[in-house]
Amino acid sequence: MKNLHNALQLKQLQLLKQLGYRYTDITPSELEQDTLDLPDDMEKLKSIVLDCHLCELSKSRQKVVFGEGLIKTELMFIGEGPGATEDSTGRPFVGRAGEVLTKMIENVLHIPRSQVYIANIVKCRPPNNRVPTESEALSCRPFLQKQISLIQPKIIVTLGATAYHYLTNDNSPISRVRGTVIEGDGYRIIPTFHPSYLLRNPSAKKEALADLLKVKELL
Ligand code: URA
Repeated sequence: MKNLHNALQLKQLQLLKQLGYRYTDITPSELEQDTLDLPDDMEKLKSIVLDCHLCELSKSRQKVVFGEGLIKTELMFIGEGPGATEDSTGRPFVGRAGEVLTKMIENVLHIPRSQVYIANIVKCRPPNNRVPTESEALSCRPFLQKQISLIQPKIIVTLGATAYHYLTNDNSPISRVRGTVIEGDGYRIIPTFHPSYLLRNPSAKKEALADLLKVKELL
Protein backbone atom coordinates (compact mmCIF):
# COMPACT_ATOMS: atom_id res chain seq x y z
CA MET A 1 0.00 0.00 0.00
CA LYS A 2 3.04 2.27 0.35
CA ASN A 3 3.29 2.81 -3.41
CA LEU A 4 -0.39 3.62 -3.62
CA HIS A 5 -0.02 6.09 -0.76
CA ASN A 6 2.95 7.74 -2.52
CA ALA A 7 1.05 7.92 -5.80
CA LEU A 8 -1.90 9.54 -4.03
CA GLN A 9 0.41 12.15 -2.52
CA LEU A 10 2.02 12.82 -5.89
CA LYS A 11 -1.39 13.16 -7.46
CA GLN A 12 -2.34 15.77 -4.87
CA LEU A 13 0.85 17.69 -5.66
CA GLN A 14 -0.04 17.57 -9.31
CA LEU A 15 -3.52 18.97 -8.62
CA LEU A 16 -1.92 21.81 -6.63
CA LYS A 17 0.33 22.45 -9.59
CA GLN A 18 -2.71 22.73 -11.83
CA LEU A 19 -4.07 25.31 -9.40
CA GLY A 20 -0.99 27.46 -9.95
CA TYR A 21 1.63 26.17 -7.54
CA ARG A 22 4.99 25.86 -9.24
CA TYR A 23 7.17 23.74 -6.98
CA THR A 24 7.02 20.41 -8.76
CA ASP A 25 7.49 19.02 -12.26
CA ILE A 26 5.50 15.88 -11.68
CA THR A 27 3.02 14.89 -14.37
CA PRO A 28 0.87 11.75 -14.34
CA SER A 29 2.89 10.07 -17.09
CA GLU A 30 6.04 10.46 -15.02
CA LEU A 31 4.56 8.53 -12.13
CA GLU A 32 5.41 4.85 -12.18
CA GLN A 33 1.78 4.11 -11.60
CA ASP A 34 1.79 0.68 -13.18
CA THR A 35 3.93 -0.55 -10.30
CA LEU A 36 1.44 0.39 -7.56
CA ASP A 37 1.29 -2.24 -4.86
CA LEU A 38 -2.31 -3.39 -5.29
CA PRO A 39 -3.87 -6.50 -3.67
CA ASP A 40 -3.90 -9.89 -5.42
CA ASP A 41 -7.57 -10.27 -4.63
CA MET A 42 -10.34 -8.95 -6.86
CA GLU A 43 -12.71 -8.01 -4.02
CA LYS A 44 -9.97 -6.15 -2.12
CA LEU A 45 -8.96 -4.40 -5.33
CA LYS A 46 -12.59 -3.45 -5.92
CA SER A 47 -12.93 -1.90 -2.48
CA ILE A 48 -9.87 0.30 -3.18
CA VAL A 49 -11.18 1.32 -6.59
CA LEU A 50 -14.66 2.14 -5.24
CA ASP A 51 -12.99 4.68 -2.97
CA CYS A 52 -10.67 6.17 -5.62
CA HIS A 53 -10.31 9.94 -5.98
CA LEU A 54 -7.18 9.99 -8.13
CA CYS A 55 -8.70 11.98 -10.97
CA GLU A 56 -11.30 14.61 -11.77
CA LEU A 57 -13.86 12.01 -12.85
CA SER A 58 -14.37 11.04 -9.22
CA LYS A 59 -16.01 14.42 -8.62
CA SER A 60 -18.85 13.98 -11.07
CA ARG A 61 -19.45 10.23 -10.94
CA GLN A 62 -22.45 8.65 -9.28
CA LYS A 63 -20.96 5.17 -9.05
CA VAL A 64 -17.58 3.66 -9.84
CA VAL A 65 -17.94 1.01 -12.54
CA PHE A 66 -15.30 -1.49 -11.48
CA GLY A 67 -16.03 -4.22 -14.04
CA GLU A 68 -17.80 -7.55 -13.78
CA GLY A 69 -17.76 -11.14 -14.88
CA LEU A 70 -15.97 -14.40 -14.36
CA ILE A 71 -12.55 -13.92 -12.78
CA LYS A 72 -10.95 -17.03 -14.27
CA THR A 73 -12.07 -16.54 -17.83
CA GLU A 74 -10.23 -16.80 -21.14
CA LEU A 75 -12.03 -13.83 -22.63
CA MET A 76 -12.06 -10.22 -21.52
CA PHE A 77 -13.67 -7.17 -23.16
CA ILE A 78 -12.39 -3.65 -22.53
CA GLY A 79 -14.40 -0.56 -23.41
CA GLU A 80 -13.70 3.15 -23.05
CA GLY A 81 -15.59 4.33 -19.99
CA PRO A 82 -19.02 4.20 -18.35
CA GLY A 83 -21.99 6.02 -19.85
CA ALA A 84 -25.05 7.34 -18.04
CA THR A 85 -26.72 3.98 -17.36
CA GLU A 86 -23.45 2.45 -16.19
CA ASP A 87 -22.81 5.47 -13.93
CA SER A 88 -26.18 5.09 -12.24
CA THR A 89 -26.02 1.29 -11.88
CA GLY A 90 -22.29 0.72 -11.25
CA ARG A 91 -22.23 -2.00 -13.95
CA PRO A 92 -20.34 -1.95 -17.27
CA PHE A 93 -22.11 -2.02 -20.62
CA VAL A 94 -25.73 -2.09 -19.46
CA GLY A 95 -27.11 0.71 -21.66
CA ARG A 96 -27.82 0.59 -25.41
CA ALA A 97 -24.18 -0.15 -26.28
CA GLY A 98 -24.30 -2.87 -23.63
CA GLU A 99 -27.24 -4.53 -25.38
CA VAL A 100 -25.17 -4.69 -28.55
CA LEU A 101 -22.15 -6.07 -26.68
CA THR A 102 -24.28 -8.69 -24.94
CA LYS A 103 -25.64 -9.82 -28.32
CA MET A 104 -22.10 -9.98 -29.71
CA ILE A 105 -21.07 -12.23 -26.83
CA GLU A 106 -24.15 -14.40 -26.57
CA ASN A 107 -25.44 -14.61 -30.15
CA VAL A 108 -22.14 -14.67 -32.03
CA LEU A 109 -19.68 -16.27 -29.63
CA HIS A 110 -22.41 -18.37 -27.96
CA ILE A 111 -20.98 -17.70 -24.51
CA PRO A 112 -23.17 -16.43 -21.62
CA ARG A 113 -22.18 -12.85 -20.75
CA SER A 114 -21.56 -13.97 -17.17
CA GLN A 115 -18.73 -16.22 -18.38
CA VAL A 116 -16.52 -13.39 -19.71
CA TYR A 117 -15.08 -10.35 -17.93
CA ILE A 118 -16.02 -6.80 -18.95
CA ALA A 119 -14.12 -3.66 -17.89
CA ASN A 120 -13.26 -0.18 -19.13
CA ILE A 121 -10.18 2.03 -19.54
CA VAL A 122 -11.64 4.45 -16.97
CA LYS A 123 -13.93 3.37 -14.17
CA CYS A 124 -15.84 6.60 -13.76
CA ARG A 125 -18.07 8.33 -16.29
CA PRO A 126 -16.50 11.19 -18.23
CA PRO A 127 -18.96 14.13 -18.22
CA ASN A 128 -21.17 14.18 -21.34
CA ASN A 129 -19.55 10.92 -22.40
CA ARG A 130 -16.45 12.69 -23.65
CA VAL A 131 -13.31 10.68 -24.38
CA PRO A 132 -11.24 10.24 -21.20
CA THR A 133 -8.14 12.43 -21.03
CA GLU A 134 -4.70 10.86 -20.99
CA SER A 135 -4.29 11.85 -17.35
CA GLU A 136 -7.57 10.12 -16.43
CA ALA A 137 -6.69 6.99 -18.39
CA LEU A 138 -3.21 6.83 -16.79
CA SER A 139 -4.62 7.34 -13.30
CA CYS A 140 -6.91 4.36 -13.80
CA ARG A 141 -4.40 2.15 -15.61
CA PRO A 142 -2.89 0.33 -12.60
CA PHE A 143 -6.36 -0.88 -11.60
CA LEU A 144 -7.06 -2.27 -15.07
CA GLN A 145 -3.58 -3.82 -15.27
CA LYS A 146 -4.18 -5.53 -11.94
CA GLN A 147 -7.53 -6.85 -13.10
CA ILE A 148 -5.87 -8.27 -16.22
CA SER A 149 -3.12 -9.90 -14.17
CA LEU A 150 -5.68 -11.50 -11.83
CA ILE A 151 -7.90 -12.71 -14.66
CA GLN A 152 -5.08 -13.86 -16.96
CA PRO A 153 -7.27 -13.90 -20.06
CA LYS A 154 -6.18 -15.64 -23.23
CA ILE A 155 -7.82 -12.98 -25.40
CA ILE A 156 -8.67 -9.34 -24.75
CA VAL A 157 -11.10 -7.75 -27.18
CA THR A 158 -10.66 -3.98 -27.15
CA LEU A 159 -13.81 -2.07 -28.07
CA GLY A 160 -13.07 1.08 -30.05
CA ALA A 161 -10.05 3.32 -30.50
CA THR A 162 -9.60 4.50 -26.89
CA ALA A 163 -9.43 1.00 -25.42
CA TYR A 164 -7.05 -0.13 -28.16
CA HIS A 165 -4.82 2.92 -27.77
CA TYR A 166 -4.43 2.73 -23.99
CA LEU A 167 -3.86 -1.02 -23.98
CA THR A 168 -1.23 -1.04 -26.72
CA ASN A 169 0.11 2.55 -26.81
CA ASP A 170 -0.53 2.42 -30.56
CA ASN A 171 -2.38 5.33 -32.17
CA SER A 172 -3.33 3.55 -35.39
CA PRO A 173 -6.92 4.09 -36.51
CA ILE A 174 -9.27 1.37 -35.38
CA SER A 175 -10.44 0.85 -38.97
CA ARG A 176 -6.91 -0.26 -39.86
CA VAL A 177 -6.12 -2.49 -36.87
CA ARG A 178 -9.52 -4.10 -36.23
CA GLY A 179 -9.54 -7.84 -36.62
CA THR A 180 -5.76 -8.15 -36.33
CA VAL A 181 -4.16 -10.23 -33.59
CA ILE A 182 -1.67 -8.37 -31.41
CA GLU A 183 0.57 -10.22 -28.97
CA GLY A 184 0.19 -8.69 -25.50
CA ASP A 185 1.82 -9.52 -22.21
CA GLY A 186 0.68 -13.16 -21.91
CA TYR A 187 -2.52 -12.58 -23.86
CA ARG A 188 -3.63 -11.72 -27.38
CA ILE A 189 -5.44 -8.50 -28.20
CA ILE A 190 -8.08 -8.39 -30.90
CA PRO A 191 -9.38 -4.87 -31.54
CA THR A 192 -12.84 -4.31 -32.90
CA PHE A 193 -15.32 -1.45 -33.23
CA HIS A 194 -17.03 0.00 -30.17
CA PRO A 195 -20.68 -1.13 -29.84
CA SER A 196 -21.78 2.55 -29.82
CA TYR A 197 -20.11 2.97 -33.21
CA LEU A 198 -22.05 -0.06 -34.46
CA LEU A 199 -25.28 1.58 -33.28
CA ARG A 200 -24.43 4.67 -35.35
CA ASN A 201 -22.99 2.71 -38.28
CA PRO A 202 -24.89 -0.56 -38.68
CA SER A 203 -23.05 -1.30 -41.92
CA ALA A 204 -19.87 -1.91 -39.86
CA LYS A 205 -21.53 -4.88 -38.14
CA LYS A 206 -20.24 -7.30 -40.76
CA GLU A 207 -16.65 -6.33 -39.93
CA ALA A 208 -17.34 -6.69 -36.20
CA LEU A 209 -18.83 -10.11 -36.92
CA ALA A 210 -15.65 -11.14 -38.76
CA ASP A 211 -13.55 -9.94 -35.79
CA LEU A 212 -15.65 -11.99 -33.39
CA LEU A 213 -15.36 -15.08 -35.57
CA LYS A 214 -11.60 -14.68 -35.28
CA VAL A 215 -11.95 -14.53 -31.49
CA LYS A 216 -14.02 -17.72 -31.60
CA GLU A 217 -11.43 -19.46 -33.72
CA LEU A 218 -8.61 -18.55 -31.30
CA LEU A 219 -10.41 -19.49 -28.10
N1 URA B 1 -19.35 2.41 -23.30
C1 URA B 1 -18.19 1.96 -22.77
O1 URA B 1 -17.12 2.12 -23.35
N2 URA B 1 -18.26 1.31 -21.61
C2 URA B 1 -19.40 1.08 -20.96
O2 URA B 1 -19.36 0.47 -19.90
C3 URA B 1 -20.58 1.55 -21.54
C4 URA B 1 -20.54 2.21 -22.69
